[in-house]
Amino acid sequence: MSEGGKFEDNSCGEVPPEEARRQADRLKKKISDICVKCRTEKSTLLFRKESICWPCYEDQIIRKFKTQLNATRKNKSQLEKVLIAFSGGPSSRALIHILNECILGRSNQASAFFEIGGIIHIDESGVTKPETAEEKEKLAQVAASYNIPYHSVPFGSIFNDSENPTQETNREKIEKLMQGCTTNTTREDIIFHMRNLLIANTARTLGYEKVLFGTSASRMATTLISLVCKGRGYNVAQEIGNNDTKYGDVQFGYPMRDFLGKEVSVYNHHKHLEDVFLPSLDTKTSDPKFSIDHLTESFIEGLQVDFSHTVHTLLRSSVKLTMPKIDQPMTCSICAASLLPSTTSQSIGGEGKEDSCCGENGCGGEEWLVVVANISDYVCGGCHRVMNEISPQVLPPYVQHNADRNGRSSRLRSQIEDYLLDDGE
Ligand SMILES: [Zn+2]
Ligand SMILES: [Zn+2]
Repeated sequence: MSEGGKFEDNSCGEVPPEEARRQADRLKKKISDICVKCRTEKSTLLFRKESICWPCYEDQIIRKFKTQLNATRKNKSQLEKVLIAFSGGPSSRALIHILNECILGRSNQASAFFEIGGIIHIDESGVTKPETAEEKEKLAQVAASYNIPYHSVPFGSIFNDSENPTQETNREKIEKLMQGCTTNTTREDIIFHMRNLLIANTARTLGYEKVLFGTSASRMATTLISLVCKGRGYNVAQEIGNNDTKYGDVQFGYPMRDFLGKEVSVYNHHKHLEDVFLPSLDTKTSDPKFSIDHLTESFIEGLQVDFSHTVHTLLRSSVKLTMPKIDQPMTCSICAASLLPSTTSQSIGGEGKEDSCCGENGCGGEEWLVVVANISDYVCGGCHRVMNEISPQVLPPYVQHNADRNGRSSRLRSQIEDYLLDDGE
């Protein structure tokens, strides 16, 4: 960032000699005819300041991808059957292709370690405008072209509740949820967490232990900064770490995390990989302050233009973050993030209403455990902001179920607390 300081002092408008030299170097590199990697082919591309040929570019992409893919492996001795999350966007489109190439390629080890079991797509019709038949067809076609089973899961299924079926359609419930939010930031925030939860739940139901996402470095850097801005800094390691343990038995992995958005675009262009454009909430907006995510994205893009290491520096710093080990952790009722011990201890013995029974004389049942918990007592810092905005009635039923479960376990813990031994005892 010190480079920025130097230019600011230069008020006369002349280019400082150091910068002139750098520009000349850049230009020289750009017009270098021969690929700096293989030194035989004609260079046609610029990859991280080096002019290289297309075969070398592809080689770099595959190599960096494999490094990140291997970093997601937890059990190094087992073959992992993975589910790929496909948004329709360029980065997850590239992920499907690269992973498939790595597995089919006989000369590498990926085929021994990974198997693609399926592709999952969350259909966000209702959140945004409904997916057209043509879009649905295009998405399914991508999976079919690789002979991979395809699962399209409607976002509305987050409202499914077999215990208490209602007359309202899921589409109407999504509408109420979206209308219940007063800011776009909250809308994007809860869609992000509920989408991930839906992917994790579906993966679990289908028997997968790992889901791979196509999140690029650019997207990840945006997520990192916006999480902090939205009061979710405590959970950064859990949200964007490779060995994500947020969803318990289902691990999320991000093998595209080394690539900038534009590097993916170049790859897709050369490979003729077409993505499926689906509008998101901030598509078409011209308001830079539409949401924290939108604002962060343009902030990072702007920095990246002047300082090409911005994104990678941010991500390098973030991988050093780890979650503290918590004894008997509780998870946020909305987003499943680990709760801070201080948050949960406050709510022990919470303010929830007891449903029916009492613990009075002669009551031998376990009904004292039936509690309708106050959701706000069992959410993380970031979701507290969400709860300030929306009424609990518009939230999907899983939120109340999770809060009740959290309430029961904290009440149970407070009942037996006196009998528990500390580590030192
Ligand atoms: Zn080359
Ligand atoms: Zn939360």
